[in-house]
Amino acid sequence: MASALIALGGNVGDVRATFRAAIAEICGRAQAALVARSADYETPPWGDEDQASFVNAAIEIETGLDPQALLAVLQGIERKFGRERDKARRWGPRTLDLDLIAYDDVALQSPELTLPHPRAFERAFVLVPLAEIAPERLIGGRKVSTALASLSTQEIKRLPDTG
Ligand code: ATP
Ligand code: CA
Ligand code: CA
Repeated sequence: MASALIALGGNVGDVRATFRAAIAEICGRAQAALVARSADYETPPWGDEDQASFVNAAIEIETGLDPQALLAVLQGIERKFGRERDKARRWGPRTLDLDLIAYDDVALQSPELTLPHPRAFERAFVLVPLAEIAPERLIGGRKVSTALASLSTQEIKRLPDTG
């Protein structure tokens, strides 16, 4: 079994409900056990600022799937929840984005999958939820909590639990 860190994001529809359903789907389809789940956070849009704010969260799972198979499962779940990729608008609005941030200590670079996720360390919306569940984790040799300390987290708001 491997430990995988997955970042969830979305800004269209009832994103928190989508997260709940998507996490259950991930565990079912990825032969996975949920190790940890962060709170949900409201975060400002990144990369393309002319859109609604996002909800972000992070989970850690233990999975029997290899990284490519896990990514395929995540993409299938994005589609199930209505994700449409607009090639003309990178980082635009979406119902659900599931990024594989890290898979054990695997490092790889291919057109379909880069590990660890190459932009995770620039993004407080990824590192804040991740630091909640795995502050000591080393990703590409960098500790999550240390990486987060160099980013501004001012605009990131933890949302109350929905129970
Ligand atoms: P970003 O990758 O900057 O977060 P995005 O999530 O909006 O942007 P997508 O349109 O969801 O980008 O994904 C584009 C492609 O990235 C996917 O087709 C996928 O094959 C590839 N990809 C490469 N590495 C990863 C990874 N670690 N996790 C998820 N997708 C990845
Ligand atoms: Ca993403
Ligand atoms: Ca993505």
